[in-house]
Amino acid sequence: MRKTGFHERGTKDFINIDPLQTGGKLTEDAKRALLEWGDGYSVCDFCPGTLDRIKTPPIYDFVHETLPEFLGSDVARVTNGAREAKFAIMHAFSGCKNGKKAIVMDSNAHYSSYVAAERAGLEIFLVPNTGYPDYLIEADAYARVIEEASQKTEVVLGLVTYPDGNYGNLPDVRGISKVCHDYGIPLILNGAYAVGRMPVKMKELGADFIVGSGHKSMASAGPVGVLGMKDEYAEIVLRKSGKYGIKEVELLGCTSRGVPIMTLIASFPHVVERIERWHEEVEKARNFSAMMEKIGINQLGEKPHNHDLMFFESQILYEISQNTKSGRYFLYRELKKRKIHGIKPGLTRYFKLSTYGLSEDEIEYVINSFREIIDIYT
Ligand SMILES: *Cc1c(COP(=O)(O)O)cnc(C)c1O
Repeated sequence: MRKTGFHERGTKDFINIDPLQTGGKLTEDAKRALLEWGDGYSVCDFCPGTLDRIKTPPIYDFVHETLPEFLGSDVARVTNGAREAKFAIMHAFSGCKNGKKAIVMDSNAHYSSYVAAERAGLEIFLVPNTGYPDYLIEADAYARVIEEASQKTEVVLGLVTYPDGNYGNLPDVRGISKVCHDYGIPLILNGAYAVGRMPVKMKELGADFIVGSGHKSMASAGPVGVLGMKDEYAEIVLRKSGKYGIKEVELLGCTSRGVPIMTLIASFPHVVERIERWHEEVEKARNFSAMMEKIGINQLGEKPHNHDLMFFESQILYEISQNTKSGRYFLYRELKKRKIHGIKPGLTRYFKLSTYGLSEDEIEYVINSFREIIDIYT
C-alpha cells in the first residue's frame, strides 16, 4: 500500500474554497448511504428493467415525482454527470445522417459542453462575452450568432451556462430562451453550478432542458447528474431501443447504477433546505468580494455578484510572485500553511474561489490570511 495520499486526503480539516468542491461535500445522511449502498450494483436488487422504475430503494418516486418538480421540468432522469446529460441531449439532436448540424453556446461554456458537442458530431458556434472586466453573455449576441451559423448549417440546439464556472455570472436565460425560440431552437440550461445551490426552475426560465451535477452542487459522492426536459423532447432524447424495448438508447440503457444515486437521494432533503438560504450565500459572497477589494484584490465578472463562485484579479500577488524565491507557488504554500485549500498551485494573478457553505468566521479567517500574506511580502 502507498504510504501517503491513498488512505488520507491531507486536506480534510482545511477550509475549502475550491468552487469545484464546496457544493459537493456529503451530508451525514449521504455518508451513511455511502456505506450502506457501497457494493457494486447495490440498487439493482429489485430492478424491473430500468433504473428509473426501481421502487425499492425509492428511485421511481425520486425520478418521476421529486426530481421533475424540483427542476421545473416535465420529465427527469438521473445521469452519470452533467456532461453525460448534455451529451445525451446533443447526440439525440445531432442526427448524424443528414450532414453536420450545429449548436450555439456561450463562450463562457464549460469545456465539457464543448467536448460533448464534439463527441456528438455537432458544429459549435460560440456566443462571445462582453470581455474584461465583466465577461457578460447577452441575449442579443445569441441572435447574431444564430443568424451567422444558420447561413452555413442547421442550428439544432442552444446552450447557456448558468452560472459559468469561471466568473460565476448568471446570464438572462429568459431573454436567451426567447431568442432561441424565435429561431425554433430548443435551449439547454447548464446548471452544474446552480441546481442544488440556488433556486432554479427550467420552465420558469423558458429553457427546454436542464442539467445539473450531483457531485458539484447536490452534496453527492458522484459521479452523478440530473437531466430535466419538456415532455415534447422526451421522445427524442429518451427514445427506446429497437431490440430492448424498455432501455433508453441515449442513456445506454442505464446510468447511475449504485451508490452515487443513493448519496444524491440521501442528501436531497438537505439540498432543498439549503436552497432556501441561498440569499445568505449571495450576501456572504458580496461581503467577501468587498473585503478582498479593500486589500487590493479585485473581483471580475458581475458586480454586485449573484453567486458564490467568484473570479479575482490580483496585481499585488502577481508582483510578489515575481520577487520571491518560491515564485508563483508562494500563494499556494502560504494558504496551505494556514489550512486553506482550493486555489490552484501556481496561480497568483487570476484565480477563482467559492465561499459556499463557509461560516462568517471562516470567511473572516480567509480574508485575514490574504491580508497577512500580502503584508509579509510587502
Ligand atoms: C463542473 C461543471 C460541469 C461538469 O459536471 P459533471 O457533472 O462533472 O459532468 C459542467 N458544466 C459546468 C458549468 C461545470 O462547472
